[in-house]
Amino acid sequence: MIDLLVVGAGLTGLYAAWLAAQKGARTLLIAYGRGGLELSPGTLGVAAGTSPREQLAAFKRPHPYALIGPRTVDQALDALLTLLAAEGHPYAGSLDVNLLLPTAAGATIEAAYAPAALAGVDLGNPRQMAIGGFLGFRDFDSTLAARRLSARLGESITAIDLPLPPPTSQRDRYATDLARLFEDASWREAAARAWRSALVGVSHLGLPATLGFQHHQQVWQDMQDRLGLSIFEIPTLPPSMPGLRLEWVLRHACQDAGVDFVEGSRAVGRVTKPHARARVAGAVALTAGGPRAFDADAVLLATGDLLHGGLVARQDGLLQESVFDLPVVHNPDRSTWVSPRASDTQPYATFGLRVDASMRPLDAHGQPLYSNLFAAGGLIAGARRAEEGSRQGIGISTAYSAVEAALA
Ligand SMILES: Cc1cc2nc3c(=O)[nH]c(=O)nc-3n(C[C@H](O)[C@H](O)[C@H](O)COP(=O)(O)OP(=O)(O)OC[C@H]3O[C@@H](n4cnc5c(N)ncnc54)[C@H](O)[C@@H]3O)c2cc1C
Repeated sequence: MIDLLVVGAGLTGLYAAWLAAQKGARTLLIAYGRGGLELSPGTLGVAAGTSPREQLAAFKRPHPYALIGPRTVDQALDALLTLLAAEGHPYAGSLDVNLLLPTAAGATIEAAYAPAALAGVDLGNPRQMAIGGFLGFRDFDSTLAARRLSARLGESITAIDLPLPPPTSQRDRYATDLARLFEDASWREAAARAWRSALVGVSHLGLPATLGFQHHQQVWQDMQDRLGLSIFEIPTLPPSMPGLRLEWVLRHACQDAGVDFVEGSRAVGRVTKPHARARVAGAVALTAGGPRAFDADAVLLATGDLLHGGLVARQDGLLQESVFDLPVVHNPDRSTWVSPRASDTQPYATFGLRVDASMRPLDAHGQPLYSNLFAAGGLIAGARRAEEGSRQGIGISTAYSAVEAALA
């Protein structure tokens, strides 16, 4: 018998599954696809503003942060940061002051924590800073990034195009291709040799986030040593290496902790048992061998929002929760779902499940639908994640809260 069945393999689901398994729970994770980590900069955004800790105290119910309280956010982050450091992918930052990090478009993003190579940027001292792009790598334009960042900081930042040593490629290269090349020490030596003359006078170099994958930390350090300057990474267009590294660490941690995976399978319904209507008894998933019931003591939905399958807009206009058809907080008038201004928080991104402080989905009267069914992450209503800069903070802290309640 499974203690906890987690549906979803994004940041929320992977973190929840790892947490449960390392607490000793028999844990199964079912997902039909990968989550959104490869689309994310790999940072841990908790709340935008100068101090995430101060912002946290200001959220009101039904916002997920107000339901779980700041202490849970701290505990959830601690557990993840400890894991990341132990796995050789340390993050830097704090809840007291947000990091300010450059993006590939020359804008800036705030995050409480970021991988050390991203957090290594010092925007307060742009004098000897340069931004390097790679010739032939279309997902990062050093001139655009440097020009817009210069305008933002009021200091001139140099753009440098650096040649990529052989092998040449017959197609456009992705960040993942470059990360693989950087993992090779002899290729790194060739790159350092080819770049040295272009980097005279530069002491702080921003590069697209491609410095290795599994051995990223060593690759980053090695390139700094070879070039004799400090390097910071800037997240690129997807596939985003910092997000992929975070995903890789979490997947390995799950496997080490004993989580079982059933992937490529869509969960489509609940297992019911007679005389236990207030509880779910597991979930049914469409596996390669046909529909299969997975019995479990508790189920945690970490299926994300409309973009990743947690919510599904049906042709008849109804918005449905994809696994158990739970009630979704949303505006039934579809014409209101999308704002014409791309920079606005899109209304559809606020839709989701209403939950209690234990992350149990609620019915229209505010009562938990099932005593052992939980939801976390992008699936939960009550937040404006993009505007609040709270995506990852909500994902991991609601997962933490749900796992604690499910295993209690
Ligand atoms: C278009 C797009 C743009 C994004 N841009 C950004 C960005 O700019 N910055 C950023 O930080 N993040 C970005 N993200 C990532 C996004 O923030 C995350 O998706 C979000 O944090 C929610 O994470 P999550 O773990 O709750 O769910 P997700 O990461 O969405 O993962 C959901 C998981 O559930 C699985 N699933 C869903 N329904 C079922 C089902 N019925 N049965 C089985 N499995 C199911 C999916 O396959 C997936 O594994 C973007 C995502 C998308 C899709």
